[in-house]
Amino acid sequence: MPNPAVVRAFLKPRHHRLAERVEQFATQSIATLEPQHDDAGARTQARQILGLLGDGGWCRHTIPEAFGGLATAPDLRACCLIREALAAASPLADSVFALQCLGSMPITLAGTDEQKQHTLPAVASGQRMAAFAMTELEAGSDVSGLQTRARRDGSDYLLEGGKAFITNAGVADYYVVFAVTDPAAGTRGLSCFVVDAETPGLRFVAPQILSEPHPLGEIAFEQCRLPADRRLGGEGEGFKIGMRTLDRLRSTVAAAACGMAQRALDEALVHVKQRQQFGEPLANFQLTQQKLARMATDLTAARLLTYRAAAEADGGAERVTLEAAMAKSFATEAAQRIVDDAVQLLGGRGVLRDSPVDRLYRAVRALRIYEGTTEIQHLVIARQVLASS
Ligand SMILES: Cc1cc2nc3c(=O)[nH]c(=O)nc-3n(C[C@H](O)[C@H](O)[C@H](O)COP(=O)(O)OP(=O)(O)OC[C@H]3O[C@@H](n4cnc5c(N)ncnc54)[C@H](O)[C@@H]3O)c2cc1C
Repeated sequence: MPNPAVVRAFLKPRHHRLAERVEQFATQSIATLEPQHDDAGARTQARQILGLLGDGGWCRHTIPEAFGGLATAPDLRACCLIREALAAASPLADSVFALQCLGSMPITLAGTDEQKQHTLPAVASGQRMAAFAMTELEAGSDVSGLQTRARRDGSDYLLEGGKAFITNAGVADYYVVFAVTDPAAGTRGLSCFVVDAETPGLRFVAPQILSEPHPLGEIAFEQCRLPADRRLGGEGEGFKIGMRTLDRLRSTVAAAACGMAQRALDEALVHVKQRQQFGEPLANFQLTQQKLARMATDLTAARLLTYRAAAEADGGAERVTLEAAMAKSFATEAAQRIVDDAVQLLGGRGVLRDSPVDRLYRAVRALRIYEGTTEIQHLVIARQVLASS
């Protein structure tokens, strides 16, 4: 659950009220959902969760007021608080919310009013599920290696190629797709398109099965014809739109990591106070205390970096690349260590499949990979540190 006291300096009074409300929602409506153990179950539950998020008005925080959202949207600190609470309750719910942000931010940043009106109100109300399709089998960290082509054909584009590791593939209502319009221009030859899931020539290929159920998969474009007005921004602006989107939303991945870490710490605290070995509670042993101290300190540091990055972006900074890279890399790595320590403190009970910490252990791993791996964040940080020295 969010702990707004730790990051008070970065929050407004409205954020404190939001933290209380979202914690209540996550505890009552999300944590009570049955955890899913297979891909099909996760796909069905993802749609159910989207309905709950839409009815509760939570997706409105990602959308500007003129298009069905809230006045201050996009409010990244609000998105961070929501992701913290959802991730602590259900990693799947966090993913559903995260993709509503990721799939709408490019439209908010670069769409015309008509394009925004076409999609954003239905994202805000939870009626349309979003997806963000950048990664391909041969192009992950290196976006300049994208192969999916968008060839101009009169007033249309024809999309050819495929995407992999796409969250919500097969369940989304639309995809924000990055494709090459000028192969000679490197990343300046990428463009960005909004493609409705039912567009002829767009095919869901197959799911990619994760150890913690999460709707992931491959899609293909085969002579997929799109009117040119589905392009966001100008030709060649796709890379800029993608990077600005990721720049802003990386702090929310860090927030999800904080939520998972907080839940793991909470589970560990309950356990070490009640579990007796050698005639006393585990909490009395100094080696246990060392773990708890490290977990709590890492989590606090992660939160401070996270909300600093989100507050900078909310304050109008054009780019928060450095702050977001620090927050994402530190928080996701720290969360991995915290969850691992929690599993260790629970002993054998920590690796039982139905244990909350085992589920967190499986879920937290992907956060160090998606939206830019830790290594790529370190390269970004080092580049900026070297340039300013
Ligand atoms: C659960 C999950 C959900 C995802 N959802 C989406 C989504 O919705 N949309 C989407 O577009 N993508 C999504 N992805 C894809 C994700 O963004 C990529 O997996 C990620 O960018 C890494 O790419 P890759 O897997 O090809 O790894 P690679 O790029 O092949 O990297 C493999 C390893 O090499 C390292 N490496 C790469 N280059 C360097 C370098 N220059 N220096 C040092 N180390 C390097 C990486 O850090 C990594 O450790 C998702 C992935 C996962 C796991």
